[in-house]
Amino acid sequence: MATVIDGKAVAASVRERVRGEVEVLTGELGRPPGLATVLVGDDPASAIYVRRKHEACEEAGIRSFDHNPDASICQDELLDLVGELNDNDDVDGILVQLPLPDHLDQAPIIAALDPGKDVDGLTPTSAGLLARGEPGLVPATPQGVMELIGSAGVDPEGREAVIVGRSNLVGRPLFSLLLGANATVTVCHSRTRDLGEVCRRAEILVAAAGQPKLVTGDMIRPGATVIDVGTNRTADGLVGDVDFEGAKEVAGAITPVPGGVGPMTIAMLLVNTVQAARARHDDSVHMGRSV
Ligand code: NAP
Repeated sequence: MATVIDGKAVAASVRERVRGEVEVLTGELGRPPGLATVLVGDDPASAIYVRRKHEACEEAGIRSFDHNPDASICQDELLDLVGELNDNDDVDGILVQLPLPDHLDQAPIIAALDPGKDVDGLTPTSAGLLARGEPGLVPATPQGVMELIGSAGVDPEGREAVIVGRSNLVGRPLFSLLLGANATVTVCHSRTRDLGEVCRRAEILVAAAGQPKLVTGDMIRPGATVIDVGTNRTADGLVGDVDFEGAKEVAGAITPVPGGVGPMTIAMLLVNTVQAARARHDDSVHMGRSV
């Protein structure tokens, strides 16, 4: 029977660590680190996510800047807002809540973010640095996955890791992180011929497909560490991409949904905000400027 990895507890310890770092940084900067959120329109699910991020910032001592333009905002106006936040020295991190309304073109808006403030790690610059194994801001969810693997006492080095999903938000950055940690990594997607056969090779298996209970117990190698990123709202409530009941009989360690990866995402966003503030501060000291 698998050990259940407690994402809430791991996230709480990360947030505690962040609180300490924010206190030190606030002293050094002469102001708290700042995170700006941009929520376009009033989509209720997005509004809840943004509110949770603000609450987490407040608890950590990070100042949040809340921007909530009307859903009718045009592309140029939104680009102007991003430009203002790029130029605002009190803002260390900028988060544009996705998805944007259909009339807006997401890619140029993300690309307009100052990569030094890209706390979601979604700009082409951040993605390129990560793909090259160079330091930069890394998307929060895959970073949270790595933290959970570590919390289970598992070192990816030399292990077979399989990721189900190749999105820019989760699968691809996770590939780079696991490769950077010296795992042998396979990435599966909707065209993978025999998903079960590939998954059964995994000592570390990460499911990020957005398909309820796609990964069943018979697809899991005995003793594997299974991380379930999936968040699927079904008639039975919130379920992951892994059939938890079947999988926990075979896996060595497994994350539940909810209470696994979910809590880590906000915790790692706070980590990124501190990282961005620290890097901007160090740069400004280096350049003889004050931030
Ligand atoms: P996405 O952009 O929809 O990507 C899904 C990926 O899964 C795609 O690469 C797709 O393959 C692959 N896939 C879909 N069906 C498959 C199948 N039957 N077999 C193999 N691969 C399959 O989703 P995402 O943004 O990465 O999110 C994935 C899941 O994680 C969602 O449930 C999302 O809600 C959740 N999520 C949770 C958090 C959190 O904080 N807990 C954060 C982010 C995402 P193709 O590329 O071939 O289409």
